[in-house]
Amino acid sequence: MNFEQMTDSFDREHLWHPYTSATHPLPAYKVRRAEGCVITLDDGTELIEGMSSWWCAVHGYNHPVLNHAIEEQLKSMSHVMFGGLTHAPAIELGKLLLRIVPPSMRKIFYADSGSVAVEVALKMAVQYQYAKGCPKRTNFVTIRSGYHGDTWNAMSVCDPVTGMHSLFGTALPVRHFVPSPQSRFGGEWNEQDVLPLKETIETYEGELAGLILEPIVQGAGGMRFYHPQYLREAARLCREHGLLLIFDEIATGFGRTGKLFAWEHAGVEPDIMCIGKALTGGYMTFSAVLTTDEVACRISDNYPNAFMHGPTFMGNPLACAVARASVELLLSSGWEANVKRIETQLKNELAPAAELPQVVDVRVLGAIGVIETRKEVDMAWMQRRFVEEGVWVRPFGRLVYIMPPFIISESQLTKLTSALLKIIREIKEHKPIG
Ligand code: PMP
Repeated sequence: MNFEQMTDSFDREHLWHPYTSATHPLPAYKVRRAEGCVITLDDGTELIEGMSSWWCAVHGYNHPVLNHAIEEQLKSMSHVMFGGLTHAPAIELGKLLLRIVPPSMRKIFYADSGSVAVEVALKMAVQYQYAKGCPKRTNFVTIRSGYHGDTWNAMSVCDPVTGMHSLFGTALPVRHFVPSPQSRFGGEWNEQDVLPLKETIETYEGELAGLILEPIVQGAGGMRFYHPQYLREAARLCREHGLLLIFDEIATGFGRTGKLFAWEHAGVEPDIMCIGKALTGGYMTFSAVLTTDEVACRISDNYPNAFMHGPTFMGNPLACAVARASVELLLSSGWEANVKRIETQLKNELAPAAELPQVVDVRVLGAIGVIETRKEVDMAWMQRRFVEEGVWVRPFGRLVYIMPPFIISESQLTKLTSALLKIIREIKEHKPIG
């Protein structure tokens, strides 16, 4: 295996990759094609996909149904502005989304990416409070270990330490953080868990527009799975104190946690909900912010009688068309049985990792499998070892995790889980960082 041949010198010199140094970058393996659950590198090396391209590619790659949807849409229009114009792809997608989101979600705002959806949701909450006669309620409370994106306000509600944005410190708006819930999903509920949130909301009610969190599964901020009762208690507190409850379902949406959306685990409906990532099956960047009639009407019926946001590519027809095809495909593909099958296999095959001295915790929910290591892993070494084993897994910090496409076969998934166990066992021999 020649690792030089798998990367590209122009790329190394000039292209900046996510969270990477421009001068001493970690290798970026050059992909020739991606099909189903297999990523093929330039030199012909085949990798089983364990990441779904960061939660997105739930149907795998190069799917004929999704390809067809984009090709057909391309023939009539790739884009028109959404200001003053509308089109069937946006309307049809909207009708479909309203069938699957919480019943109280009645209005849809299309946006460009997950981070932008979070910006939109926060702005919506502030504008709602303004319209309600509470112009001082402009701040937010959130739970630690959260992750909501890389733009300014999204960064401000990410965990200040694990959320990857700590160095921006004082440049960011200062939010209220409470400890993340300690009661685990599937474990006992400890009612003490919600007390810090209660206290913060009671103390700062007059300045808080809302509470934002990822329901049930905290993703990039720690890959934690917490108790649904927390959401019920949080919702009650929000209602009692006039905060809007914002669910960031950008990672958890579209079946990943075993429910179509994670709110269903708790039966708690938010006031505002963000979706993205798997919305287009990983084909295009696209997101949506959904809200209630109450929030939308309050904003629209008060000065300035409009919601003050409108991105250039809002409601992009290509993105809407492929999103509609992806959601329809999901609903007709038996996703629930697939996710259950993946969950059972992950539980069985990752369980032995819990016995390893290198590991502090193993957890599985839906089509997400997480191994938390004792020490921070050496990412470059581990990434390379995964490629040598023929799998695509991208660990970070002390988290080695997979969330494969739902179409993954039993043998492909076994290849992933075996590689995970094998390489984690090797940590001892290789000197880990930290
Ligand atoms: N919210 C959550 C929960 C996410 O996981 C992410 C992306 N990792 C985002 C928001 C930001 O989405 P994007 O990268 O599309 O801006």
